[in-house]
Amino acid sequence: MPVERNIEDIVIAGAGLAGATAARTLRSEGFSGRITLIGSELHHPYLRPPLSKDYLLGTAGEDAVPVAPEAWYTENDVDLRLGTHVAAIDPGARTVHLSSGGSLEYGALLLATGAVPRRMQLPGSGLDGVSTFRTLDDSRRLREQISTGGKNLVMIGSGWIGMELAAAATTYGNHVTLLGLEDIPLAAAVGPELGAFFRSVHEANGVRFRLGTTASELRGDAGRVTAVVTGSGDVLPADIVVIAVGVLPETALAEAAGLALDNGILADASLRTSVRGIFAAGDVANALHPFTGQHHRSEHWSNALNGGKIAAKSILGQDAQLDTIPYFYTDQYDVSMEYSGFPSLAAGAEPVIRGSLASREFIAFWQHEGRVVAGMNVNVPRTQKAIKALVSSRAPVNAARLADPAVALDQLLAED
Ligand SMILES: Cc1cc2nc3c(=O)[nH]c(=O)nc-3n(C[C@H](O)[C@H](O)[C@H](O)COP(=O)(O)OP(=O)(O)OC[C@H]3O[C@@H](n4cnc5c(N)ncnc54)[C@H](O)[C@@H]3O)c2cc1C
Repeated sequence: MPVERNIEDIVIAGAGLAGATAARTLRSEGFSGRITLIGSELHHPYLRPPLSKDYLLGTAGEDAVPVAPEAWYTENDVDLRLGTHVAAIDPGARTVHLSSGGSLEYGALLLATGAVPRRMQLPGSGLDGVSTFRTLDDSRRLREQISTGGKNLVMIGSGWIGMELAAAATTYGNHVTLLGLEDIPLAAAVGPELGAFFRSVHEANGVRFRLGTTASELRGDAGRVTAVVTGSGDVLPADIVVIAVGVLPETALAEAAGLALDNGILADASLRTSVRGIFAAGDVANALHPFTGQHHRSEHWSNALNGGKIAAKSILGQDAQLDTIPYFYTDQYDVSMEYSGFPSLAAGAEPVIRGSLASREFIAFWQHEGRVVAGMNVNVPRTQKAIKALVSSRAPVNAARLADPAVALDQLLAED
């Protein structure tokens, strides 16, 4: 595919982590042309991970969320248009049309439109006190609602966000019931044994689970939610209901412009889409990963950060590929977890545990054909580099030695 050169105008649709990182990288790589960064939200680009963790808990302040200081955009001559929605793309004319009525020509366009929460068509989902959770405003609103404690909160969805919100709400002294379709929360992400580990951590902190079911109806009084009816007919009292049943890539623009889609915007490893001059990065991109030779769409912070950097370099005609080992993290109560690797290759494999689940300090490894394809360290800090090196090496590793804490991780690599 031809590289893009001599570009003077770069438009970025979506002012989240991927879009803002791309703008920063363009400048740090010496691009001196025009950059227009367009975001539907009113806030300067911000990080989402703190929204369900320390920011929600009040242990981190406003300075924890910006991607860059507000002054950075003006100081670096980035035309940041907040509260502005890209309404359409005309790839033939290399033009985007804005909801405000104007249009902009581009030499290269980056689609960094992220993802939006899945909705549930439930009777009562429009009641006050019922919401999804994705934005800074969502986090501020929920913090106000839960920070005094004593409320009944029903969380619909037992994925990472649902579990993190349950942890924060419980820590504030609220009564949390978590509904999940899976029999074991997070089992699809980390398997039944580790999913049960996370459930036990929550149960020890007072969270009640209703699993293998979801909500069938939300009831209210005077326009405000009062109860959730489960699929099995139980009625759970509720002052606050959060629907956290996953996200969908925000592909509306790309679809209308005729870009190739498949679970997001299809992109090659350099984040070029099927249409020349248009790139995609972050939650919305389903990019080819050189390590597996498969397309991966990741809904994680490091993918948006690295994707923003690679898209910028690729736009500038550099030979850049998004080939980093995928990574994400979560913090729930006193459990800090980091995961590196490929969940698609790890799926179905029995984890090899180094350490003990009972002590809440361990590393779980997943192997595929004898090679480590993913590793998750729980309360064992500073092991990410070694885990990523094991995955990258593709070296066969003896499972008994992998499980043995006496064998240093670096040593396993040297044994190859
Ligand atoms: C509460 C929460 C906690 C998280 N915690 C973690 C974590 O602990 N670890 C981890 O690895 N990941 C975490 N994530 C995931 C991580 O935050 C995302 O992967 C990351 O935000 C994706 O960045 P992005 O720039 O691709 O998309 P987004 O952050 O979704 O940004 C896209 C932006 O584009 C805007 N937009 C969309 N369409 C248009 C349009 N047509 N015109 C203009 N603007 C548009 C959107 O309004 C949005 O502001 C969390 C996510 C959430 C919501």
